Amino acid sequence: QVIYLNGGFVSKEDAKISVYDHGFLYGDGIFEGIRVYNGNIFKCKEHLDRLYDSAKSIMLEIPLTFGEMQDVLVETIRRNELRDGYIRLVVSRGPGDLGLDPRRSPKANVIIIVEQLAIYPEEAYVNGLRTVSVSTRRNVPDALNPKIKSLNYLNNILVKIQANLAGVGEAIMLNSQGYVAEGSSDNIFIVKRGVVFTPPCYCGALEGITRAAIIELCGKLGYKLKEEPFTLHDVYVADEVFFTGTAAEVIAVREVDARTIGEGKAGPITTSLLREFRKLVQVDGVK
Ligand code: PMP
Repeated sequence: QVIYLNGGFVSKEDAKISVYDHGFLYGDGIFEGIRVYNGNIFKCKEHLDRLYDSAKSIMLEIPLTFGEMQDVLVETIRRNELRDGYIRLVVSRGPGDLGLDPRRSPKANVIIIVEQLAIYPEEAYVNGLRTVSVSTRRNVPDALNPKIKSLNYLNNILVKIQANLAGVGEAIMLNSQGYVAEGSSDNIFIVKRGVVFTPPCYCGALEGITRAAIIELCGKLGYKLKEEPFTLHDVYVADEVFFTGTAAEVIAVREVDARTIGEGKAGPITTSLLREFRKLVQVDGVK
């Protein structure tokens, strides 16, 4: 396995950055998680658009152009002979001094790590996950603006800790008004009487690339899709609930806070969206 680090390729053991990196000291940086299917980078442009938008928003200069970044991604998967797997692309503010001032970190660190990955067993896609809602709130829209995919994931880590304590794999985070926002690292959808709902991004959801792909697939499959705020009550009484994300793809939920969802397994709309999504990933991508 080789890791891209600031213009070169190094082994895992040699992939090291400074303890003065503000990504480490302050969570000052941004990242993307991207999938490779069948040797193609899925939704490459969409991921890089989000990366460059996040960078612009936090005034972080990425030392590669969009095109160069795409080439480097392709080269990294080629060198690792990765046909199916996961890419973690990180751009941190880079080394500075102990103060916050980003002007003292003139050179960003760019890191690309690839990995084989399977976060849930195939059984979970059929039977669904158990999940709980947690007390950690998604802060919108200030410092932890969900539109910025920043390295500051403490909120999400707290959600994950609460999920671990409850013995479940993913949890539901609300925003400060009590509306459902998203999971710890996945977007959430519910289905009620054939209509698919997902929270709008202003409720505190990341503009997930998988979320966008599912919204598009709903259109193609003729499912009515509404982006509107909803509460935990709506989740409890939904016919189907599922999460979407680059790593998770489309994963059904069978239980929320001890309420059984629908039939207690992946419902028909979730199942057909997963099937279509898995077809899409095989054809859509950058070589
Ligand atoms: N929400 C959060 C907080 C995330 O970190 C992610 C990415 N894992 C998602 C949603 C899903 O986004 P995407 O489909 O772009 O992976």
